[in-house]
Parts: sequence; structure tokens; C-alpha cells
Amino acid sequence: MPLPPPKPEVYLDSDCTICHEPLLIPSSHEPLEPSYVIDDVQLRCSHHFHKSCLLEYAVSSPDARERCALCRANVLDSSAAFIVTVRTETGHIGTMDLGRDIDDQLYFQAHPNAERAQVFLSLMAQMDFDEAEKMLKGEEQWGNGERLSPDVMYETGQTTAMHMAALNDDVEGVQLLLRYGADPLLQDESGQTALEMAREQDARKVIPLLASASDRHLSSTGR
Ligand SMILES: [Zn+2]
Ligand SMILES: [Zn+2]
Repeated sequence: MPLPPPKPEVYLDSDCTICHEPLLIPSSHEPLEPSYVIDDVQLRCSHHFHKSCLLEYAVSSPDARERCALCRANVLDSSAAFIVTVRTETGHIGTMDLGRDIDDQLYFQAHPNAERAQVFLSLMAQMDFDEAEKMLKGEEQWGNGERLSPDVMYETGQTTAMHMAALNDDVEGVQLLLRYGADPLLQDESGQTALEMAREQDARKVIPLLASASDRHLSSTGR
């Protein structure tokens, strides 16, 4: 007779060490979706936290990178990485390097505009033009009221939203960016402009738009 399948690991329905709220958060939604979400990060010492609580704590208190907020045990592994265990609603258990998330959080705190830029670029990539336009107007809900430049770049590659729209033959994206004064002649890391990229990809709808915008830009700036 085969052995019975191993019991699934029982989810510990404990509370977050920092805020004392349950790790299992009820959510309201469509009937087919799970009725709760799990926000559970477990440290090597076995204590549980909401990821958001732990990140908040870590950016305000440097020693959170090394010690558990509750028991003060060392939380780093032998290679000094802050590896934590996380669970998902489907019962999947995995690990992640929380140190990286903390580094990102610290970076964004020190460079608030970098975070805005990354949010804008991902909105453009998702073709969520309404939300992206709000940022160009400085009207997004969580913003500081400043208009975001349409020329912001990805942290790597010096690629702009215009390059991305060119690559995707995304007419609406290109038009939106041009309307807010994006510079169509910016070059990415490899020296390519959005127009060159569009030509290479045979992105037929955006080529004429980018070509005429580039001409206009050249004559107005005298480049
Ligand atoms: Zn919490
Ligand atoms: Zn602990």
C-alpha cells in the first residue's frame, strides 16, 4: 500500500510581530477569488511579520537588517543575505531576499523622483494612459503635485517611455508623450533613438509620427 501523501504544512495563523494584526487579511472581491490574502514573512528565528511592516521598520531602524525586531536573533544567513520565508494563498512556500527589497526601499526614499519615474514607466508599459497622463500633469493621487517629465528613463539602459512605445508600435503612447513635450531624439544606452528603434522593428504606425516629431524637434532646437 502506498504511503498517504504528506500532510500540507499547516499555515500558522499568527499575527504580525510589529502591528499585531493577523497575517491573513480578509479581502472583499469577486466570488471566485480567495476571501483572504496572506502577507506573511517569516524570519529564521521563526517570527512572522507583514512584509510592509518589516520594510517600514527596516528603513527607519538600520539594525533591522541584522536582528529580529522581537527576539533580537540574527536574521542573516552565512553569506550575510537576509533570506526570509514567504507563503502565498495557494499554500506555496518560498524564500526571498528581503535585503534587496530593503535596499530598493531605501533608494526610493532617498530618491523620491526615481520611484515616480519607475511607476510612470510601468504605467506606460501597461498602456494605462489615463493614470500615466495624470502623472504628466502632476495630478496623480499620491504625487507631490509636480509634473513628471515624459523623458524619464529606466534605471538601466537609458530607455524612455518613447523608446518602449516605438518598440510596441504604440500610437496612443507616442501621441501622449509628444503632447507633453517628450524629446523624440533622446538616445538609449546604445545610441538609438525611438525612431531608429521603430524602423528597426518595422513599427509602421509610429514611424511617421516619430519622423515628423523628430524633424520638428530638430528645427525648433536647431540641433
Ligand atoms: Zn504588521
Ligand atoms: Zn525573532
